[in-house]
Amino acid sequence: MKTTYEICVVHGDGIGPEVGKATVRALEAAFGDTSPLHFSEHPAGAQHFLEAGESFPGETFEACRAADAILHGAAGMPGVVHPDGTEAGLDFTLTLRGKLDLYANVRPIKLLPGVRSPLRDAGAIDYVIVRENSEGLYAARGAGTLLRGEVAVDPLVQTRKGIERIVRFAFELARTRGGAPRDGRRRVTCCDKANVLRSYAFFRSVFDEIAAQYPDVEAEHVLIDAMTVHLINRPSHYDVIVTENMFGDIISDLGAATIGGMGMSPSAELGDGNGFFQASHGSAPDIAGKGIANPYGTVLASALMLNWLGRRHADARLVEAADRIEAAVNFALADEMALSRDLGGTAGSEEITDILCARLRGRA
Ligand code: ATP
Repeated sequence: MKTTYEICVVHGDGIGPEVGKATVRALEAAFGDTSPLHFSEHPAGAQHFLEAGESFPGETFEACRAADAILHGAAGMPGVVHPDGTEAGLDFTLTLRGKLDLYANVRPIKLLPGVRSPLRDAGAIDYVIVRENSEGLYAARGAGTLLRGEVAVDPLVQTRKGIERIVRFAFELARTRGGAPRDGRRRVTCCDKANVLRSYAFFRSVFDEIAAQYPDVEAEHVLIDAMTVHLINRPSHYDVIVTENMFGDIISDLGAATIGGMGMSPSAELGDGNGFFQASHGSAPDIAGKGIANPYGTVLASALMLNWLGRRHADARLVEAADRIEAAVNFALADEMALSRDLGGTAGSEEITDILCARLRGRA
């Protein structure tokens, strides 16, 4: 347990500062005058690239590396690109992932009371996608080949080390959860395409090796194409899903759509030494500055942050505050009290944050 935790805050672009500031307010309200969190703000992103000529300053990276946790709003502005055409706004997230080896991308998909799912008779939805974040198809970014304008190749990389650590992470996570909503069974599902590609067959075989070390957790395989159907037809069957980088990217957006959309979906990117927390959505430039961004995803990401920090440092204050933040979100959504526009309501970011803060300060 530490007396103070250094939180590096990077607001970023578009709605990033709106959802980021709302979340810092909620965190301050959760702890009141005795907060163990110390926030410091640092610049990065497409807007900073336009203003200062760099998208991710070295000082910001150092602050991220040294902090106990990194909290991010959102990054990216359409058309703000490097000379090679790649987006400047992506530099922050992708560089952090690589340099800090944030190999586990954890995406909880949970339908909260008061939020309408587009799925009819969905039942309870409460599973976690564990997306491998350091290799897979996306490891080829910047290293693919285009031959004579005729043939393009991007390699799909899967290493034993990379698969072992992400699968182990998924099983350990399953042990901390209460099982799938449908039957209460602890279950890890390996989502792959082992019937077609050798790299995915390798992923599956290493998954099976690790699964044998966790006899208390059920293990199963599902092909990625079938998974897109199951996540619509029987989401309550799932508990923890572990999958390759690109598949995880795709099914976590699908999952988010079943629980109210990207605005409701938090994300944690974890390595052995660092944790990076944000909502799953991008910078949504179409609604930036209008005061209507949904802050729940980022606020829920901050609860993931407190949980991770609390367990890492055996600090019950943080785990308890994470529970209170989740309870405040449930309170604000229940009876459709504070639904943002993307959830079919009319509440703006400020109104939602006020309700969350009042609840966290014991005044609602
Ligand atoms: P990226 O590729 O960077 O993740 P994207 O282009 O897929 O981003 P987002 O920026 O995530 O797109 O947003 C897509 C649309 O969803 C936005 O234009 C916006 O209308 C809506 N949206 C996303 N996040 C929110 C939010 N927090 N609150 C309200 N609406 C949102």
